[in-house]
Amino acid sequence: MASTDCGWCGVRTHMIMVPPVRELPRATWQSRDDNVWMAAFRCSNEKCARLSVGWATFYKVTHESEAQAHLPTAELQWEPKQIRQPVFPDVPPEIEQAASEAHACLSIGAARGAVALARAVVEATAKAKGVTTHGIVQKINALRDNYVISPLTAEASHQIRKDGNSIAHGDIGDEPISQDDAAAILEFMDALLDEVFQRPAKLQRLKERHEERKQGNAPSGPTAPGRSGADFGGV
Ligand SMILES: [Zn+2]
Repeated sequence: MASTDCGWCGVRTHMIMVPPVRELPRATWQSRDDNVWMAAFRCSNEKCARLSVGWATFYKVTHESEAQAHLPTAELQWEPKQIRQPVFPDVPPEIEQAASEAHACLSIGAARGAVALARAVVEATAKAKGVTTHGIVQKINALRDNYVISPLTAEASHQIRKDGNSIAHGDIGDEPISQDDAAAILEFMDALLDEVFQRPAKLQRLKERHEERKQGNAPSGPTAPGRSGADFGGV
């Protein structure tokens, strides 16, 4: 479908085809029966309206009119792609950057890069919590045994470790990791960061405000100075 996260403005939007459609020369794609058709599409976010290129492969579609009819409803690939770089405000900066980069990798289809970085995030998280035992297996277990993470998060972290190891150790030949699996791994990575850094920080802020209220010196405005609603972490 011609809906995607616009690579320019980032908004999930409907893309409106701007004909003409163009068939790519066969030599570009080296496929006998498939025809690759491309067109420009305009972002329907009126604050953006920029053009992206969408393309799809059709089996034996050689006529322009037929391609033009199929293209808006096809599963399209897009250029430019939207690069996701989420922020993790309560996570130590060096870990946050690696986690954000893992998401950026996934958003451009670099599943292996995403998973390798997720593994690095797991190990760095343990180090940041003062776990210095040798080996990532022991580090994850120590986080669990010290009640920093739940048994489920520990199990998920071991899965990230195993998939990350396959890539780091060069076992990448037979079955490349799918986008869906890499997305699931990043979901667990996010949950780990939430459990170790973000939720404790939110709870700490909540406690502090409780104490402020109790002592009757809470700020009178709707938001405390330095804690505006723009803070991604919020409360
Ligand atoms: Zn746009």
